[in-house]
Amino acid sequence: MTYKTDKSKELFQQAQRCLVGGISSSFHKAPWNDYPIYMDHGEGARVFDVDGNSYIDYLNAFGPNILGYVHPALTEAVEKQLKKATLMAAPNADLVKLANKLVDIIPCADKVSAFMSSGSEANMHAIRVARAYTGKKKIVKIEGCYHGSMDEEKVSCDAEKLEALGSREHPNKIKHIKGQKDPDDIIIAMFNDLDNIEHIFKTQGDDIACMILETIMANADPIYPKPGFLEGLRKLCDEYKVVLIFDEVITGFRLGLQGAQGCFGVTPDLATFGKAIGGGYPISCVVGREEVVTAATVASGTFAANALCVAAALATIETCQQPDFYENLERMSKKMIDGIEEICAKHGVKVNTKAIGGMWTMILGTDEELTDYRDHYSKVDSKLYTRLVQGCMERGIRLNPWRGRNYMCAQSTDDDIDYTLRVIDEVMAAAV
Ligand code: PLP
Repeated sequence: MTYKTDKSKELFQQAQRCLVGGISSSFHKAPWNDYPIYMDHGEGARVFDVDGNSYIDYLNAFGPNILGYVHPALTEAVEKQLKKATLMAAPNADLVKLANKLVDIIPCADKVSAFMSSGSEANMHAIRVARAYTGKKKIVKIEGCYHGSMDEEKVSCDAEKLEALGSREHPNKIKHIKGQKDPDDIIIAMFNDLDNIEHIFKTQGDDIACMILETIMANADPIYPKPGFLEGLRKLCDEYKVVLIFDEVITGFRLGLQGAQGCFGVTPDLATFGKAIGGGYPISCVVGREEVVTAATVASGTFAANALCVAAALATIETCQQPDFYENLERMSKKMIDGIEEICAKHGVKVNTKAIGGMWTMILGTDEELTDYRDHYSKVDSKLYTRLVQGCMERGIRLNPWRGRNYMCAQSTDDDIDYTLRVIDEVMAAAV
C-alpha cells in the first residue's frame, strides 16, 4: 500500500509561518495526524487531495454536501447567479421563493425569521428571539450538545475527562475557548432525562427563556431520544412557558425534508437550519411559530441572504424534493450499516448502528442504546474508531474522524458502498 501525503505536509509547514496553529478550524486536522490533508477538489461522492489521492467521502464537509460535489443542478444554479451578481445589499425574488418553500415544508415554520451564513449565528439569533418573546434570560442546554462557536453556545459540548463534568445534579459549565465569557445565564441539563429537566424548570422556570437541543445528539457519538423524551419536553416547555428550540443544523434536510421535527412528530417553537440547506454554500436561518418568531427582528449581516447562497439553497431543496430522494439515501445508509453490523459480528466487536435519511451512524464498543453524554463517554471505544478511520483514510475511504456520524450524498453509489465495506472489513481485522 502506497499512501503518500508529502505535499500536505509541506503545505502545513508553510501554513505555520502565516496562520495561527497552521489551520483555520481545529476540526480540519484528524486527531491522529500531525498535519491536515489538504484537499484539492471534489467530484461526485469523492474528494481528491493535493498529492493526488482520492477518497470516497462520507464526511461530506460535516454534513452540508447532501448533493455531493459539483452536482449538476447546484452548479448550474450557482453559475447562473454568478453571472448576474452575488451580493447586492438588497433582497431578490429568489429570496421570497426560498422563504415560501421553507414555510411550506417545515412543520414549525409559520415564518422565517431571517437568513444568516452559519449555524452558530442562527442559534444565537434564536436565543435572542426567545429572550425577546418571554422577557426572561436564562438558557437551558443539554450537556454534550453543540450549537456553534459563540460564547453562549460553546458550553459543556464535551470534556477531556469524565470527572470534569461534575455531578449530574450540579454539572459544571465547561468553557471551551480561551477568552470566552463566563456562561452565567446557562443551565446544563441531561439528555433523555425528563425528571432532571422538570426539576430545573420547577426551581428556575421564572428565569428560563428557552431550552435548546439537538434532537439527535449528533455531536456526541450519536445519541437518539428515547420514546417520549421529545414529547415530554414539549409538554414541560408549554407548562413553564419556555421556548423550545430544535437545533436542526445537522438534522435539517439531512434526515428528510421536514428534518427531525418531521421524523419524530414533535413541533418546536423555533428551529434553526444550516449546513445541508445550502448544499455546501453558507446559508442558515431561524424559523418558527408566528407569535414567537416575530418577537424580535434581526439581524443585520453584510452577507446575509446573498443571492449566490439563496440560489444554492433553492437548487438544493428542489433537488431534495425530487421523488424518492430521501428513500434512496436511507436505502444506501441502511445498506452501509447492515454491512457494518455483519463485519463487527465477524470480528467480535460490539456496535450500535442507525440509519436515518442521509445519516448513518456507528458506535463501536457497545451495542446498547446510549442515554446521554456521560453514558456515551464511558461506553464508546473511541480508540478503535480512530484506528478504523485512519486505516480507511489510508485506503481511500474518508469517514468522520471525530465521531461515528457519517453521511451519504446524492451521488453515493452502491459500488462505493460495496467497496467501502470490503475496506472496513480489512481494516477492522487489523484494528481489533
Ligand atoms: N448546531 C449543530 C448541531 C452543529 O453541528 C453545528 C456545527 O457543526 C452548529 C450548530 C454550528 O454551525 P456552524 O459551524 O455553521 O456555525
